[in-house]
Amino acid sequence: MAKSDALPLIELAEQFAKLPGIGMKSAQRLAYHVMEMSEGEAKALSQAILNAKRSVHTCRVCMNFTEHELCKFCADARRDHATICVVETPKDIAAFERTKEYKGVYHVLHGLISPIDGIKPDDLKIKELLSRVSEGGVEEVIMATNPTVEGEATAMYISKLLKPFGVKVTRLAFGLPIGGMLEYADEITLYKALENRNEI
Ligand SMILES: [Zn+2]
Repeated sequence: MAKSDALPLIELAEQFAKLPGIGMKSAQRLAYHVMEMSEGEAKALSQAILNAKRSVHTCRVCMNFTEHELCKFCADARRDHATICVVETPKDIAAFERTKEYKGVYHVLHGLISPIDGIKPDDLKIKELLSRVSEGGVEEVIMATNPTVEGEATAMYISKLLKPFGVKVTRLAFGLPIGGMLEYADEITLYKALENRNEI
């Protein structure tokens, strides 16, 4: 793309290139694709981005994404609210829901502690978890972060903070491959990891 010719197209590609997993080549391909769209399709795409951004926020209790004050898990009285499964991202919730065996609720950290990337405990939703547990009624907190260095370190850090509250803290029993991501784990592997969880 010659810079003087189509600056908005270059700017669009630069926006796509900011998305995770999109290199400059893919970004340019997406930008050209937008040019092939009808005006209506382009409008629908930009509206969908703005609508998601404006109407979806985090659940007041568990920090999962929702359009409402409470997400569907926190609002569901049939779920076991005494058991909290702590995950890194909202995507991980879908993995546990696929097992159809987990009946508790969740807490989404929105990241992992990672000194290399400059991500500190305060950048995560840890305070929200502690205040939730301090309100009482919680019996078990399952640390379900991925079995990576950051996932293990985050699980250990949080379990220490939870100890004074006297709740049972457990960790998934990873038959999951080390470094394996929850979102790609099959239901049976994840179900076993949950069933055989150990107290930490
Ligand atoms: Zn919730």
